Amino acid sequence: MSKKIMIVTGGSRGIGAEIAKLGAADGYAVCISYVKNKAAADAVVDAIVQAGGEAMAVAADVAVEADILHLFETVDKRYGTLTALVNNAGILETQMRVDQMDAARMQRIFTTNIVGSFLCAREAVKRMSTLHGGSGGAIVNTSSVAARAGGPGEYVDYAASKGAIDTMTVGLAKEVATEGIRVNAVRPGVIYTEIHASGGEPGRVDRVKGNIPMQRGGEAHEVAQAVLWLLSDKASYTTGSFLDVTGGR
Ligand code: NAP
Repeated sequence: MSKKIMIVTGGSRGIGAEIAKLGAADGYAVCISYVKNKAAADAVVDAIVQAGGEAMAVAADVAVEADILHLFETVDKRYGTLTALVNNAGILETQMRVDQMDAARMQRIFTTNIVGSFLCAREAVKRMSTLHGGSGGAIVNTSSVAARAGGPGEYVDYAASKGAIDTMTVGLAKEVATEGIRVNAVRPGVIYTEIHASGGEPGRVDRVKGNIPMQRGGEAHEVAQAVLWLLSDKASYTTGSFLDVTGGR
């Protein structure tokens, strides 16, 4: 059996860190990327190695094309040909209305969340597609329930970036469907991670959980389980699909 090799962008904390750990436990050699928090990235790698898995961390900002190229080339050299990409890195900024947002903020959100995911997907397809001599693989994009809800009064820019990820998932899935690559997405609801502090409200999950049918926030490992299923052969006939991990929202 060929080696399973996974890249998880933004794998140093939150949902990405759980995907990396679960992926390693499932037999993937895992490469996580991060931007600022090297200590957190090293801790994820250490935890995987301690548990008998294989992992490395690469500092690579998905908003910078050269960093993405470096990330994928590092994996080529160290592990071999990629079989799984999780486009997980994503950012949001301080809650505000659209009429308060400046252009620089919109550029940061769209560049990181949309362009970054596109460029990573491009590099993955170049390696996985049978059209390019590859042996296939799977991509999972990290969308959000915000793509459906729109994020009014908080972050319509972020929500719109996830809407773009949904469209990319559908289009790319069809584009590479005969080339051995499946492309799917998860749409997490409100999950207990540090991303809510970036929006200026660390306690956001507990504020909104009363609106969730299951009456609770989600845990990062619950999203990771869905991602690992979509990547696995158990999802062999599933492409261009979305798994909502939202507690019924
Ligand atoms: P998080 O706790 O804020 O963690 C973000 C991770 O992404 C960190 O590892 C961070 O690295 C990395 N990162 C940030 N900017 C990056 C960039 N430009 N390039 C590469 N890596 C970058 O976030 P999370 O809540 O786990 O969210 C993960 C994904 O799920 C995001 O796409 C988010 O939009 C989506 N999501 C989350 C929720 C939720 O409620 N948490 C809901 C729906 C969707 P550093 O450690 O170096 O900063």
